[in-house]
Order: sequence, then C-alpha cells, then structure tokens
Amino acid sequence: MKEIIVPAPAKINLALKIKGVRSDGYHEVELIMQTISLHDRIRIRKNERGIKLTASDPSLPVGQKNLAYRAAEEILNFVNLTAGVDIYIEKRIPVAAGLAGGSTDAAAVLTGINKLFGLSLADEILLEIAARLGSDVPFCLHGGTAFAYGRGEKIRQLPDLNRLNLVLVNPGIPISTPWAYAQYDQSGKASNLPVDQLLQVIEEGKEINWQEGWGNDLEEVVLREYKELSLIKERLKAMGAKFVLMSGSGSTFFAVVENQKAGEEIRANWPGKKDFVTTAWTVKKDFPELW
Ligand code: ATP
Repeated sequence: MKEIIVPAPAKINLALKIKGVRSDGYHEVELIMQTISLHDRIRIRKNERGIKLTASDPSLPVGQKNLAYRAAEEILNFVNLTAGVDIYIEKRIPVAAGLAGGSTDAAAVLTGINKLFGLSLADEILLEIAARLGSDVPFCLHGGTAFAYGRGEKIRQLPDLNRLNLVLVNPGIPISTPWAYAQYDQSGKASNLPVDQLLQVIEEGKEINWQEGWGNDLEEVVLREYKELSLIKERLKAMGAKFVLMSGSGSTFFAVVENQKAGEEIRANWPGKKDFVTTAWTVKKDFPELW
C-alpha cells in the first residue's frame, strides 16, 4: 500500500458539564460526545523521509502547529520509522468551531499511519499517543457515542444511538475555548446538568427525551457575550428543530430535526447567507458509513 484515504469526522457535544477546576489548571468535565457525518478527508502517502503537510484551506498551519503534523511526528518517532509521509487535508469542517476539527485530523493521521505501514499498534498505545496530542484526540480515534471525563481524555464507549438527523449552523465567529471556560468560572455557577441520568438513557437504549436536561454549561456565558448567536438558536427552533444546542465552546449550533427532509428544508431556507449551514447525521463507532 502506497497511500490511504482516511475520513476524519467532526464531533458534537450532546452534553457538556463543567465540574470544576483541577489543581493542574485543567477543567474537570463530563461530556457526552457524538461523531457526526460531516468530515475532513485525509490522504496519507509514503515518502522517503520527513513529513510534508498541505491542506485545501490555506489558512491552516502546515508545520508543527498543525495537530495532524504533530500526530504524524509522534507516531513515526514512537516506532522509530525512518520513512516519512505526505499528508493532504481536504478541509470541510469549519475551523475553530467547537467541532474538534484539529483533533479529528490528528486521530485520522494516527489511524492512517498505523494502517498504511502495517504497524498493528495496540489500541492502548494509539490512545496514549492521542492523549499526548490533546484531550479530544482519544475520543476521535473511534468516535461513535462516548462519555468523556477527566479533562475529556478518559473515554467510556456508549452504545451507538439510533441515527439522529441534524442541521449545523456556524456563523464564522471564532470563540476561544479558554476564554469561554474563564467566563464560566467567573460566573460562579455550579452545574446542575444531570449527566448521570442522561447516560442512563443512552446505556439503556431508551428513546431520548430532549426536555430532560440535555445541555452545555458554556452556552449561557457565550450567548451573553455574543447576542447574534441567540438569534441562530431561536431561528432553528422557529424553523421546527426539536432541540438546539451549542457544540463545545461554539460558535457552531446543532439542531436535531425530525428527518432528513426537514433538515434539507432548513438548510435551503436559512436566511443568514454568510453562515456555514449543512445537514448531517450521527454516525456509529469507527464510522463504517464514512470509509
Ligand atoms: P475543539 O472543539 O476541540 O475545541 P475546535 O473545533 O473549536 O476544537 P479546531 O478546528 O480544532 O477548533 O481549530 C482550533 C485551532 O487549531 C485553529 O486555530 C487552527 O489554526 C488550529 N489547528 C491546528 N491543526 C488544525 C487542523 N488540522 N484543522 C483545524 N485546525 C487546526
């Protein structure tokens, strides 16, 4: 095998709970993570030596600042391989949008290099390398539906959900994740998100009732500062969405809709012409739908 193409899907947070700040400065969180069909495509080719990265989006860093580049460096160093790789990222996930775009590219590079060179690295090793790259990277290796805790790097896989149809809207407002967490800390709030209850619903395979306290602790503080985002949430609801929530620290909002047609209608009639709007759906562990 000379090259491989790996899908790198985005994630949304069905729930994001902040439990507090740890002594190492990281926030203790409880997240219900969900992989969705919107994905980047990563092409990895063997070369003689070194790492070369290019991307369809010229605004992306191409050296060590790109998480996908660092992923390649880490795994090639780990196995002491003298060969190198050319990586091309076809970027479809909006950048800095709360959709874990960088983390999923990094995870896809780990999966891709493991397969391309027939390294057969054990899952625990890949997870360990992933955790060194960032808190969301371990989840992105397998995706599906998962409970993430600690600083988000500890993963408990959950049963795959029945497909949820979604619409995503991103207005292109970049929101800094550390800023959003700092706002939450300053608000002095204590989270009352019933994550244990929500986990039970998923683990027992019950139908999700969106009135039952699903939420994102960062949403209120972000909406307070960025009033135009409230409009997106209200619009999605007015256009018939069953449930609308900000993903991560924003500024993407996802809406759960009745079926794909309802999603297509919202996308076609969305009034904000500058916004990134797409339909998507939830995908299963290891995303067999996307390969
Ligand atoms: P999260 O949901 O994990 O907080 P995000 O979706 O908000 O992440 P990213 O799209 O990962 O944010 O981008 C955050 C920053 O990471 C950007 O400033 C970008 O320049 C940088 N970055 C590094 N590598 C990548 C990559 N492969 N794809 C996208 N952004 C990258």
